[in-house]
Amino acid sequence: MPATLTAPHFVPAAVDSPTVLVADLSSVERAVALYSSDMPTGFARRTREDDAQLCDWIIQGAVRLGLDELHLSAAYVQSYRVLKMAKLATSDQERAHRRRFANSARLTTAHEAAVITTCFVISPTREAIKRSTRPAVEGNCRCHASGWIRQRQDLDDASSSYAINCPGHNPNGTGSPISRKPVIV
Ligand SMILES: [Zn+2]
Repeated sequence: MPATLTAPHFVPAAVDSPTVLVADLSSVERAVALYSSDMPTGFARRTREDDAQLCDWIIQGAVRLGLDELHLSAAYVQSYRVLKMAKLATSDQERAHRRRFANSARLTTAHEAAVITTCFVISPTREAIKRSTRPAVEGNCRCHASGWIRQRQDLDDASSSYAINCPGHNPNGTGSPISRKPVIV
């Protein structure tokens, strides 16, 4: 049971907003909410007392953005992060990400703070976790939305081509690289 949930100064205003519950937001969604909140960019959580303030900011950012936009932006961030980690993000995707989150230091702070809330304060619901893994790619992708990225070991040898699943559009490798039917509806 998270101790901060029962902190008297914190209960009505922060956790139980009429429209948003912190538990209903995944870690990435909380990060996007924090990014959009009044949280100072240089914020660093020092004690458990700070957790209540973090949750206040999550609610503030979520209400400010609206849940539809929050869910969508978080899905874009998540897909971009996996593409970036795989070194497969395109320049178009980089630009789209920077348009959405111009302050990368602030986004890093928001991610770090959001993880603290999911690990130590309020766990996300199963539904929130499931929603946060929904692929949503912003910007032209190497897979052309087919879910599969074709590559060649030898650029001069067509027979050396192979396909890998796109970590953004098709993180679970659903479908077949032979079929060019898009996996994303
Ligand atoms: Zn893709």
